[in-house]
Amino acid sequence: MMADDYDTREIWRPLVFRLHENAPAVVREVLLERGWTEFDKEEQDDADWNLYWRNSPFRMTDHHSIKPWQRLNHYPEAVRITRKDYLARHLKRMRGSYGSALYEFSPVAFIMPNDYIKFISEYSKERQSRGRRSSYWICKPVGLSRGRGILIFQDIKDLVYDCTVIVQKYISNPLLISGYKLDLRLYVCVTSFCPLTIYTYEEGLVRFATEKFDLGSLDNVYAHLTNTSINKYGASYEKYKEGIGCGSKWTFSKFRSYLRIFGVDDMLLWQKINNIVILTLLAVTPLPVASNCFELFGFDILIDEKFKPWLLEVNYNPALRLDCSTDDTVKRKLLHDIVELLNYRQIDAFRQNQVAGTKAGRRRVPWSTAGGSATREASGLLTCQKVAKCTSASSVQPALQAARVSTGKVATPSKKTAKAYPRKTLTSQMRERMNMPKTPSSEKAEAKNKQLQGAGYSPHKSDQLSHWLPTPDFCKCKLTTRPYFLSDKDQRPIPRVGDFVLIFPFNEAALRASKDGTDVKSIIKEINKLVSKQLPSKEQNTKKKVGCLTSV
Ligand code: ADP
Repeated sequence: MMADDYDTREIWRPLVFRLHENAPAVVREVLLERGWTEFDKEEQDDADWNLYWRNSPFRMTDHHSIKPWQRLNHYPEAVRITRKDYLARHLKRMRGSYGSALYEFSPVAFIMPNDYIKFISEYSKERQSRGRRSSYWICKPVGLSRGRGILIFQDIKDLVYDCTVIVQKYISNPLLISGYKLDLRLYVCVTSFCPLTIYTYEEGLVRFATEKFDLGSLDNVYAHLTNTSINKYGASYEKYKEGIGCGSKWTFSKFRSYLRIFGVDDMLLWQKINNIVILTLLAVTPLPVASNCFELFGFDILIDEKFKPWLLEVNYNPALRLDCSTDDTVKRKLLHDIVELLNYRQIDAFRQNQVAGTKAGRRRVPWSTAGGSATREASGLLTCQKVAKCTSASSVQPALQAARVSTGKVATPSKKTAKAYPRKTLTSQMRERMNMPKTPSSEKAEAKNKQLQGAGYSPHKSDQLSHWLPTPDFCKCKLTTRPYFLSDKDQRPIPRVGDFVLIFPFNEAALRASKDGTDVKSIIKEINKLVSKQLPSKEQNTKKKVGCLTSV
């Protein structure tokens, strides 16, 4: 076969995803919808996938052997903020270092049994000062999720536990809609911990309890917990609930419209939530440097009746089950936008350079050879760009020679090694479209994509929510056409990809402070400036409206 025929056949090779058992079904569905194919262990080489998705952490060897064209859906040690006790410890440390004014967004917490004495002292102090109207507490096992093993109590004699738990101040004055408690599931994607690059997702889920809030029945989980995994078993779940509807979920869009009807300043609320996200992630930096991974976190935010947002916990592997049509709408689009955010165009750039290099040498360099040298030379998501440079037409020849020296023979294209070298002009988006089965909705999406491509890479030109950005000015100047590349000092991350909005870095100073190792102190200084600009008159404005909403 002529080499060019081979290239032509390879041009349309779709991107490849690899799923570990238990990975959510919707991840497979979305990637297939986008024209990707699933990795076949029997047929393909270990290096032949582009995205590996699993629900548990990767082994360090997976991180070390990552290739420039690959992405993993977890960072090493992301669990530092997703376990309730670790999170509580990190936030306490930050409170000690940077002041409780900034870090008072998470309810006071004690890790039991270690903090038992401290808890007793706090509990007694509260009892004395508040008399009979003592505080409410919530006890949560650190190793469980989905509302399992949770206990709410007022009197210490009701506190029982047989494993490590956190006992947290219970927010007893939550924002209620028609008497129902709610919390927000906010999706946050960190595309790099070094430099720190954080996107929050504008769409998300509002999760309701399915029975009316009542402090007189602390053991009624359907009134006090908002987990869908619990409420879907409640008697009222399917029923129509006045003011809420059936089921237990709204989208953020619906919630925002609702707030606006009552004149609530939703913009200020979201700014505060974004600050919480940044301050929480700063608490766990630095994480070990790892290339080509990203992390999708689920932040659980409770809003109280004064519109103060509280961080309840951060979830690793936020649920991607589709329990209802609201889930379907939000989570499918979320996954599409994650793929956009991962920017497989960079991978194409890398591959294009490989093709150029390969043609110059008239031989293919095995992926393992090119990738191996590449991975050693680069770090972070910028790996591809560095590699693209070092494996360009002029530099591929030494790599080829190295392959000859190490193996004693010339590298020839084998079925397993010579895959996925697209033609120069090809982008991953184009290839995804070519491989997508045509449906009316995909045709509509295609038209939309064309429109977006005409306007430059991906940023979706919704003007409606640009105010969610902490500092819009920062995003106006000198944008990159793709998300972060560590190696390019002048670049900054793109401000919006689909419904993902960049919230960190939010200005020049924050960008500088996050470049060569995270300078947390300088970043906190910038956040303090930001917060002082955000708060005044607007807060009073919000307070005025509270009465209207809670009385609904
Ligand atoms: P899990 O990991 O088991 O879901 P969470 O911390 O998310 O644990 O708590 C489950 C639910 O309990 C939350 O969605 C919220 O409705 C409620 N909850 C948790 N902590 C508090 C708190 N401090 N104050 C009020 N409600 C809380």
